[in-house]
Amino acid sequence: MVRRHLGLLVLLAAMLNVVGIGCVRAADAPLQRYEFVAPHMGTLFKIVLYAAEAAPAQAAADRAFARIGALDRAMSDYDPDSELSRLCRQPPGRPTPVSVDLLAVLQRSQRIAALSEGAFDITLGPSVRLWRQSRRTLRLPSPQARAAAARAVGADKLRLDAVARTAILAVAGMQLDLGGIGKGYAADQGLAVLRDAGFARAMVAASGDLALGAPPPGAAGWRVEIAPFADDARVPEILTVAHAGVSTSAGSEQFVQIGGRRYSHIVDPKTGLGLTRAAGVTVIAEDATSSDALATAASVLERDRVRRLVARLDAPVRMIVQQRDAAGVVRSEVFGTAPPGLVTVVPVGSTYQNKKRTG
Ligand code: AMP
Ligand code: MG
Repeated sequence: MVRRHLGLLVLLAAMLNVVGIGCVRAADAPLQRYEFVAPHMGTLFKIVLYAAEAAPAQAAADRAFARIGALDRAMSDYDPDSELSRLCRQPPGRPTPVSVDLLAVLQRSQRIAALSEGAFDITLGPSVRLWRQSRRTLRLPSPQARAAAARAVGADKLRLDAVARTAILAVAGMQLDLGGIGKGYAADQGLAVLRDAGFARAMVAASGDLALGAPPPGAAGWRVEIAPFADDARVPEILTVAHAGVSTSAGSEQFVQIGGRRYSHIVDPKTGLGLTRAAGVTVIAEDATSSDALATAASVLERDRVRRLVARLDAPVRMIVQQRDAAGVVRSEVFGTAPPGLVTVVPVGSTYQNKKRTG
């Protein structure tokens, strides 16, 4: 238990290790680095921005956190009063008006569900709830309970009308879960607030999901260390990135052990259970909404289907997948091509000679 939490902390610390690089040019010298942190969506959101004075920087960060807080209240599946929860309580088949934000996230989710052949699926809510229970009780759900949950799952059962701005849940018992995309969307929206307030050199981090704006003064980009896949692995790459989203799916760290098998918090739509194939996936995409959802999707998929997913996307995306091979060696494999915002990649070591842990 302690070890699991320690592993997670190490991972979060690694993901948050995002700092400006390069030296400060004379023209940019008056700009200072400001950092703000606030709890939202069950994690800590961090804002870094460069500004000439503290007061406007603080005011912009407050506005960005207010926007993130509002999105949290709209999209939470824990809060029975959230817009999402109210939508899920509507009778099946009834067109229900949804906010611009919720519609945007639902549309993006549906698109990635289609492109990922259902690996990413926000309608998995009933299975995710059942799986959360199993993670607490350390007992697998019964086949009956899994089958009942599966009857209320399926991207085809969520119907969106972008013109009327409505959503329909086609069958009873449906539950939408935005846990795999919401933090990325909120980070993007927070970054947009900062940019609109005149602070383009900014970034918003929501644990493993980063929305990166214009680089720090005098730097080509933000320095991002890819979190190592396991306690005994090292950082595989150090990236320099601007104007992009970077997400790491923490699937390999948030595992539970049941009956001698390790299961992730990401649910495999085929089984309704947590993934047993552990992989660490980092995605660099045009924004954090895409990188968040794609990192979750790629965690579910076998490598051929990861390749197919990347080929189908209309914007360049780079994915790095860390996994142990049969001999217990951690290997990193890269899919896709670098988006324009990825300035440099410094490989620290893509293959490790660490042996599989026993027990
Ligand atoms: P992330 O940490 O971004 O990979 O997202 C994981 C979260 O997304 C889980 O805690 C669930 O709330 C939700 N989720 C789990 N499995 C899936 C899936 N296959 N597709 C979409 N969302 C999922
Ligand atoms: Mg995600």
